[in-house]
Amino acid sequence: MSNIAASIITIGDELLIGQTIDTNSAWIAKQLNAQGIDLLRRVAVGDEKAAIVNALDQEISRASLVIITGGLGPTADDITKPLLLEYFGGKMRTDPRVLEHVMGIFAKRNRPVLERNVKQADVPDSCTVLFNRMGTAPGMWFEKDGKVIIALPGVPFEMVCIMEDEVLPRLLQRFSSDAIVHQSIITAGEGESFIAEKIQDLEEALPTHIKLAYLPGPGMVKLRLTGKGADAGVLSAEISIHQAAIAARLQDIVIALEDIPMEQILHRWFTSHDMRLGLAESCTGGCIAHHITQVPGSSAYFMGGIVCYNNAVKQQILGVKQQTLEQEGVISEAAVTEMAQGAIKALGVDYSLAVTGLLGPADDSEKVPNGTVWMAVASANEVQTKKFTFHYDRIRNKEIAVSMGMLMILKFIRGK
Ligand code: AMP
Ligand code: MG
Repeated sequence: MSNIAASIITIGDELLIGQTIDTNSAWIAKQLNAQGIDLLRRVAVGDEKAAIVNALDQEISRASLVIITGGLGPTADDITKPLLLEYFGGKMRTDPRVLEHVMGIFAKRNRPVLERNVKQADVPDSCTVLFNRMGTAPGMWFEKDGKVIIALPGVPFEMVCIMEDEVLPRLLQRFSSDAIVHQSIITAGEGESFIAEKIQDLEEALPTHIKLAYLPGPGMVKLRLTGKGADAGVLSAEISIHQAAIAARLQDIVIALEDIPMEQILHRWFTSHDMRLGLAESCTGGCIAHHITQVPGSSAYFMGGIVCYNNAVKQQILGVKQQTLEQEGVISEAAVTEMAQGAIKALGVDYSLAVTGLLGPADDSEKVPNGTVWMAVASANEVQTKKFTFHYDRIRNKEIAVSMGMLMILKFIRGK
């Protein structure tokens, strides 16, 4: 019922002077939330006609469901009922079931029934009576311009009883809940404009209850189909047809048909192919290893990573040649290739990724422009390299490098 917005109005001077803590609206809010109804506002007003009418006007104008508690008792300060009669129109009538119930309560207690108690059975004929097993004041359900306004007694256990017996089941019926289903397609390697062009006809053919959202991230675009409908199963099957059509059109760039992170996709591939991965990270400082180890059980395929930040480590552990560093520089295709090949040997893995770059800020003495990053993915007999130029600050550049690094591994293994 996520499309319904509700307000709660609690009535009583005692609430405004701090004598009674408003537990009613907290309890009601929790129940509504559990049914997927959004709460817009909680308003407390005194036992004063103008204040109550004003609160009603305001809340009815913005919410489709307004629940009122308080002011339904038999004493002169309880003005909610006559006020609602005036507000919604109609005449008072005596509800026979409520009258019998009220008389029964007094008979059981052996107390005389006063005129004001009998009046508890009077209700506006413009409402549906919500029977109160626990007390004498019935609840009332009004409808106006497609909106529902419910008045309940303030006594907390009576309010709870009517809500549970009468209100919550009726709300479920009245606002038949819409199921919401999401399905995703994760793509990598093309921008959102390219994708939008490529699937324009498929997007235009979507029915009005299914929407497509483009959610771009570093190096990738997530496409999310969202549908609303009465039946989650039917809706899900319907969205799947559109998801399949879009995925088929974009097949070269689709990396997953569900909303999962890149490390999860890598995890699945490596574990299902029984292959092992290792890393040689310079500028990303172990961040890629951190992402990969976020998935439980990643030790099944991830052997480890070398954070080869200093050139001495690149040389001593990965076997990067002195000559390469001197002639090509540490941020070069040659250096990153040797790092990736060195990681395969040093870590005893089937695949490796190496990253070396300058994330910034840089001074003029650097050999490469700020944001230059070289990456290499290697297997025992193949290496693929790529140069990136990132344009943000150090932290953001590192985040993008991490995503692009994982993406490079993914593209390499998918080519297999
Ligand atoms: P009423 O229906 O206004 O006569 O309320 C009867 C009694 O219920 C009050 O005297 C309070 O003790 C209690 N009460 C009323 N409103 C609330 C509320 N919002 N939260 C908790 N208790 C309430
Ligand atoms: Mg009161």
